Amino acid sequence: MGWDISGIYPLRGIAGCCHLLVDGGEATLLDTGLIGEIDSLRRLLHDHSLGFHSLRAIVLTHGHLDHTGNLTRLVELSGARVYAHPLEQTHIDGTYLYAGWSRGCGILEAIGRPLLRYRPTQITDFLQDGETLPFWGGLRVVHLPGHTAGHCGFYSARHDLLFSGDLFASYWFNIHQPPPFLNSEPDRLPESFAKVTALNPKWILPNHYDRFDGGLHRERFKMLMNYDNGPGRSKIKRPDFPPIPMDNSKELRQLLIGTSVLFSILAVLSLPLVLFTSLMCFDAPNSVQHISPYLGALSLWTIPAAFVGGQGIAWKGYYQKRVILIVLGMFLSIAPLLLLLGLKLHIGN
Ligand SMILES: [Zn+2]
Repeated sequence: MGWDISGIYPLRGIAGCCHLLVDGGEATLLDTGLIGEIDSLRRLLHDHSLGFHSLRAIVLTHGHLDHTGNLTRLVELSGARVYAHPLEQTHIDGTYLYAGWSRGCGILEAIGRPLLRYRPTQITDFLQDGETLPFWGGLRVVHLPGHTAGHCGFYSARHDLLFSGDLFASYWFNIHQPPPFLNSEPDRLPESFAKVTALNPKWILPNHYDRFDGGLHRERFKMLMNYDNGPGRSKIKRPDFPPIPMDNSKELRQLLIGTSVLFSILAVLSLPLVLFTSLMCFDAPNSVQHISPYLGALSLWTIPAAFVGGQGIAWKGYYQKRVILIVLGMFLSIAPLLLLLGLKLHIGN
């Protein structure tokens, strides 16, 4: 049977998706996104003859900035109660002390908060593992620690659907656990994966995905479980269901095509800027001030480079894919410098 559940609406933002759950004249919001979701939410509510006042509850999977970016504003607009695990309050407050690899996440959030003029909010209702929230026909709290200590999923028994938060991300070119620098308690991830495997929901919706299709992400979750049981990979208990046969060459081809398409688009967008600023630099080589736009363009370019390299580092699947992504990321990082060198030689002659 196909994926067809009424009353659930994804709100796609720049960092991922949050979900509006509508049940009659009441609405529940699962996570609040980062930038831009408020206007989409306003439109979506309006389409259902609802308003912010119809928002009964905001339920958080965890307190990372890309899930709480609009929280305070939405509480002010709606007066909704805020449901989250008590251990997430320090994340919401921005006072959580990141350690080890996850300090990277702390740095990103510390940069993001002032840019977004982020303001914290108090959790009004603390979540407990196993309790059922009275929203959308019942949402059972499934504590899934690892990504953060208080990270929770929500299971709708009515629809046999699990909202899995950031337990894994699901994109056609990359199905992966959150990268190490985003996990506060990585040692607890295996128990959470095992918990979802045991729950065995028919549909799964994470927060970071490409297509709005619970069946697709359920299948990908199975694939991830199989990937992650390979030699030298993280020790996640093998689930009971049989492994899905994988066509390796097809997977690899898809990955390469996906990466090429992505970078063709980014290159088309970035190249004029790099070229323009480079030429400005060489027109006035003695002027220091002309170097700044060049650096700006370079830093812009390093975003996709870092993204691809980062995907390679995060990749838990086939070894070759990791190497390809990391090498590609490194090449892209130096591509603007090579370009400038070429220009300099050209102009110099
Ligand atoms: Zn997160």
